[in-house]
Amino acid sequence: MHSLYLLYHELRPTPSSYTYVLPCEDFEKQVELFAQMQQAKSPSVRPEVTFDDGHISNYEYALPILQRHNVQAHFFITVGWTAQRPGYMDWNHLRALHQAGQIIGAHGWSHTLLTHCSKEQLQKELVDARKALQDHLSADVTTMSLPGGRFNRQVLEACHEAGYTQVFTSIPRKEPVPPGSEIGRINILATMTLPWLTSLLQPQSPTLAKLEQRDRIKSAAKSLLGDRLYTSLWGLVNRQEPEIDPQAERPTTSSAGKTLPS
Ligand SMILES: [Zn+2]
Repeated sequence: MHSLYLLYHELRPTPSSYTYVLPCEDFEKQVELFAQMQQAKSPSVRPEVTFDDGHISNYEYALPILQRHNVQAHFFITVGWTAQRPGYMDWNHLRALHQAGQIIGAHGWSHTLLTHCSKEQLQKELVDARKALQDHLSADVTTMSLPGGRFNRQVLEACHEAGYTQVFTSIPRKEPVPPGSEIGRINILATMTLPWLTSLLQPQSPTLAKLEQRDRIKSAAKSLLGDRLYTSLWGLVNRQEPEIDPQAERPTTSSAGKTLPS
């Protein structure tokens, strides 16, 4: 058996043209499938749900759906946005998720790419973020997901030094059960249908093999083009919403590209 960790960001009651936003109805159908697979007698693939950023829809829409189907998910929180940024959860929301049995992890303090950080900045993004979550939730926090999926060896070392035992990346790959200290994930977009997801969750999935290959090409493009150009292209490809919206993974084409998609 292996696990596949799936990465979500935001849900909305109605469809959006932005591919990082999933309609609630689609998410519920997916969770229904995951619940069936998780509860199977001898499952060959175990799907796992994760959310990045801490969007308010995680509490408003995702939590009730997960509870209806008895599925536990990881919620990775951009700590500096909590109770600060409109559209993101506050501490009461996070405590409610925690008390409902969901797993809260960190997603940095400011969503800055950790590969761009000095030692002092890493302290804030990793150590201070973990401490704030632990203080507010009165619970141990040991999981961290990397903003924009970016990391190098120093970043991983800093994560482990800060007390995170599991670091979640955005590299699509299957994981053993239980997983190791670095965990890959598959970013789920609104364009991905239920049949596609079903094929992804097959043992020896050719769909997963294709994703793995595409990711290797994407990584090569990132290192060739650099963050700024890659970000501009990403906005075009993913039909970035036209309004000025400082949220989440939405990169701005004019800035230095500090918030990046995974
Ligand atoms: Zn993020």
